[in-house]
This record gives sequence, structure tokens and C-alpha cells, in this order.
Amino acid sequence: MDTMIWHDKAETLSFSTQAFIDGKLHDALSRDTFEVINPATGHTLAHVARCNEDDVDRAVVVARKAFNSRVWAGLSPSRRKSILLKYADEIDQHKEHFAILESLDMGKPIGDALGYDAPATARCIAWNAEAIDKIYDEVAPVTDDALALVTREPLGVVAAIVPWNFPTVMAAWKIGPALATGNSVIIKPSEKSPLTAILLAELATKAGIPDGVLQVLPGFGHEAGQALALHNDVDCITFTGSTAVGKKLLSFAGQSNLKRAFMECGGKSPHIIHHDVKDIEKAAATAASAICYNQGEVCTAGSRLLVHSSIKDDFLARLLRHMEQWQPGDPLLEETRVGAIVDRAQYERVLEYIEIGKEDGATLVYGGQPALSQTDGFYIQPAVFTEVTRDMRIFQEEIFGPVLCVSTFDSIEEAIELANDSDYGLAAGVWTSDISTAVRCSRALRAGTVFVNNWDGGDMTMPFGGYKQSGNGRDKSLHALDKYTEMKSTWIELD
Ligand code: NAD
Repeated sequence: MDTMIWHDKAETLSFSTQAFIDGKLHDALSRDTFEVINPATGHTLAHVARCNEDDVDRAVVVARKAFNSRVWAGLSPSRRKSILLKYADEIDQHKEHFAILESLDMGKPIGDALGYDAPATARCIAWNAEAIDKIYDEVAPVTDDALALVTREPLGVVAAIVPWNFPTVMAAWKIGPALATGNSVIIKPSEKSPLTAILLAELATKAGIPDGVLQVLPGFGHEAGQALALHNDVDCITFTGSTAVGKKLLSFAGQSNLKRAFMECGGKSPHIIHHDVKDIEKAAATAASAICYNQGEVCTAGSRLLVHSSIKDDFLARLLRHMEQWQPGDPLLEETRVGAIVDRAQYERVLEYIEIGKEDGATLVYGGQPALSQTDGFYIQPAVFTEVTRDMRIFQEEIFGPVLCVSTFDSIEEAIELANDSDYGLAAGVWTSDISTAVRCSRALRAGTVFVNNWDGGDMTMPFGGYKQSGNGRDKSLHALDKYTEMKSTWIELD
């Protein structure tokens, strides 16, 4: 195949850069824009509407009006299902468009965007659509003189504030269940990757989702994001992003109208390799992909590798061979496995953490340098540190880049203790051939997801979210639908 095929397609791609309000594209009321950079080249990709509090007020009025009119919430679940299935189909038909935009906007390899992000977005919408006309409410077992109903109703206006690492998938995890349950939704995409959210809204209208039910306000967190979180007529803020911002949003909810607030935050996930690992080669390959996939910009990156000391040398030798397979490259080439870091600020942050690791006494045994500097893009050779101890900042703090910290342990108890020594609790992995070790570790690990003899296994049917400071609430699965509904008790007295 022509290796430049995606470059050629990117050259001719047209895309929208405005806010999407009440079924139409609009400039920000101030007419301000912000610059979006292609991290693979450092060049300007677009100027995008910079929404602020005034645009938030405008979109919330529209969202509330759409909700109160019951133009969406009042449809039968099976009708909402068929419109949402059409929407999923539109997304699927535009998968190349989504993939190229995502790659240009945040540096993701085109193969990953095509192979995971675009199909996962369509599947999430379709899965929630399929679920919604199969869920029943409850009749409580009460006295013969009453009928007692326990029903679920949509919350109203939901604001979804999402990050840049999986821009469309993270938006889909929110809008899938929130739209299926009948809410009006406003997406505030990251200022680092705003483009695919706008396309998501355009396609929603094309599929027949009524005006005002799905809107998009591009802009900065401290402007549009904060105004949404503080708004007294927003009923729910559903967030994916850093723990620091998640804490702010909880306080904004408290300062304003006690809106429902669901936070999916950061991680520093431990990946435990016991001495009895059955397929050590597979575990080593997986440990490399768990830190290199998506440039390590993954909330569940396996960033703390805990290896039994008896197999450390063998494991490390295999790991480093697999790290060689993860070379930074042009995100628009299909063979590229590691793309560009999202922007200069994140690139500098990752390189700074690599310096901190060295200064704190860890040993850099692989990578860690800037790469492809002739491109003016933001590339980093994935890094591996050994001799990492729990008091080091690189062991405790989320770097959100391709930096792996390796530590050793001598007993199951020590592995669990090290693994749980974190403010975070998003994911954890365990490799062993002993079922009891696997189950005992899974039970003891304080994490929302535990992978046994794999990393990143999952499905739309499984809840996703964190313990501790990795968040509250869960995305995906039927449990996510609960977040976007109120529970009503109705007691009907009989004559
Ligand atoms: P971030 O917290 O900087 O930004 C996330 C979103 O919040 C962006 O849209 C941003 O504009 C907005 N925001 C920033 N400040 C705000 C404010 N004061 N008020 C309102 N909104 C504000 O996170 P990021 O850098 O975009 O994403 C990386 C983080 O996301 C990492 O910590 C990662 O672990 C986390 N993440 C978590 C999950 C999960 O499911 N738990 C998934 C993906 C990413």
C-alpha cells in the first residue's frame, strides 16, 4: 500500500472548528478562537472557537429547553434506540474522518485511531442504544392498599468535560448512556483535541437527534469548563481527566447547585509479575505495550512494573527487547506504533519527570531522550527506569507519558503492599500460573479493574473506573446508566 495514503487524505480533509449549539455551528459569542497545533509537526492545524461563560449560558438555555420540551426524553426508549443506532452507523461510516482528525489533533498513530478509537466510539453508542429498551423499572413489594413504583428518570442537562488522550471514546462513554437515558448533553472537549467532538455533534444532528440535545463547546478548562461546572442549571458534571481538576470540579459542584458529579481521574497502575509467570515472553511483551501504547498517555498505563527479584534479570532483558519494537514515528504512517506527545507542555513535562527520576537515584536503562527532532514534532523515546523505590516521585506521580518504573519484590505480601502504596487505584495487573495467587492478589489490590495474565482486557459490558483518587462512578456497562438518572419513588394509595 502507498505509505503516504493517510497524508494524502489528511491534506484534503475538511472539518469544522466552531461550537455546535442548537443544531448549528456557531462562532464563540466573543468571536475569540484558540490555536490547535499538530503535535507531529508543531504546525498550526486550526483556529477553534474559544467558548466562555456567555456561550455556556447560551448552550445551557438551549439544552434545558430541549429537555423540558421532552422532544428527546419523551420519546419511547425504542425510538431513542433506533435514532442512536443510526447515529452509531454515521460514526462508523465516518471512521476514517475521525481517525485522521484524532491523529492530526493529538498525535495518535493512525492505525490505533482506526483500529480502536473510531470503532469503540460507534460500539459504545450502539451498545447503550441496544440496552435502553430492555431495562425495566421496579414495583416495590408493599401493602395491598398501594402500588409503589421505583422508576428512573433522566437528570436533565449533563455537562461532559473530557480529556485529550482518547477524545472521542471518552466523549462516547459519557454521551452513550446520557443520551440513551434521555438527557440533554453538552460536551466540553479538551482544548488540546477539540475537533472530533464537533464532528460527533454534527453527525448526531444528521442521525436525527433533535436540536439542542447534543451540543459542543470547545474552549479552555478555566473558562468554558469552569462555567459549566459552576452553572446552577446544569444537573450533572461528568468528567474524565486529571485528579487535580477532578477535585476542583467536586468543589464547584458543592459551591453551586450540588449537581451530580462523576469523576474519572488519573492512575499509576501497578503491573505485578510473579516468579511463576507461565508465559514470561508474553508478559514482557505486554509490559512494554502497557507503557508504550498511545505514547503512554493512558489513564491505565502499566507505569509501575513490580517484578519478583528471582526473575528480574531475565524479565528485564526480554522487556528491553520488546521496547525496541516501540519506536516513535509519524502518526500518519500505518506502521507507526508510538506517535507524538500531545503538545509541547506535555512533552516538556515528561522529559522533566525523566530528569527527576535520574536526580532521585533511579537508573535509566532505556530511552528517555527526545526523538525525531528534525520534524519539529514532540516525540520521546519510551523510557525504562530500574531501581525505583516507593519514595521517588516517578513511582508515586502520574507522568502520563511513556516512562516505565521497575521495582522488585520478594513475597506476595510485599508485592501487594507496594502495589497499593499509591493515591491512585484505577487498574492493576497480575501475572502468575497459580490460581490462588491470582485470586488473592486480585482481591487485595485496591483498583477498579484487575487484569489477570493480561493488560487492558475489557469490553463495553464491564464497568470502568477507579478506587481512591482515581475517581468515583463508573463508565461503561449497565451501571453507567445509573449515573445519568434520578431514582423516583411513587406511592399510589388505592381506594
Ligand atoms: P485535565 O484534567 O487537564 O483536563 C481534562 C478536561 O478538564 C479538559 O477538557 C480541560 O479543559 C478541563 N479542565 C481543566 N481545568 C478545568 C477547570 N478548572 N474547570 C473545568 N474544566 C477544566 O486532564 P487531561 O490532561 O486532559 O487528561 C489527562 C488526565 O486524564 C490524566 O490524569 C489521565 O489519567 C486522565 N484520564 C482518566 C481516565 C479514566 O477513565 N479514569 C481516562 C482517560 C484519561
